[in-house]
Amino acid sequence: MQLHTHLWSSALLSLTIYPGQPGKATLTTLSGVLVDLDHLVLYMVRSGDWSIVGALCYNRYRHQKRVPGDTRPRYGPLRSWVHQPLLILPPLWWLARRYRALQPVALGVTLHLTLDGIASVLLRSCWSAVRS
Ligand SMILES: [Zn+2]
Repeated sequence: MQLHTHLWSSALLSLTIYPGQPGKATLTTLSGVLVDLDHLVLYMVRSGDWSIVGALCYNRYRHQKRVPGDTRPRYGPLRSWVHQPLLILPPLWWLARRYRALQPVALGVTLHLTLDGIASVLLRSCWSAVRS
């Protein structure tokens, strides 16, 4: 899922659930976007390139199919344990029930991981349709 999609969907959710509560709305939006920081960290560690510009350039071509002559490096899936919904969401929601201040964070992270999961299923379906 693209970063801008996470930004707009998180902003829409936060404004819908927390109208007139800018702090909670901002926290939900940031939580819905910043989950993807693991991609940046993994890119930097694997590539040795610590620039944001390099990461953004890599993000543009990393999903493109390799064509002959394309020698640009690929670093594999850039997903850490942060993108494992069954590992993250149960303890996060348990904490959010105990500490209400964490509820906007739980909402943003849940939206993010749900959208990533939907996008993943759609991509797999498209690939299997193309291959058959
Ligand atoms: Zn993500």
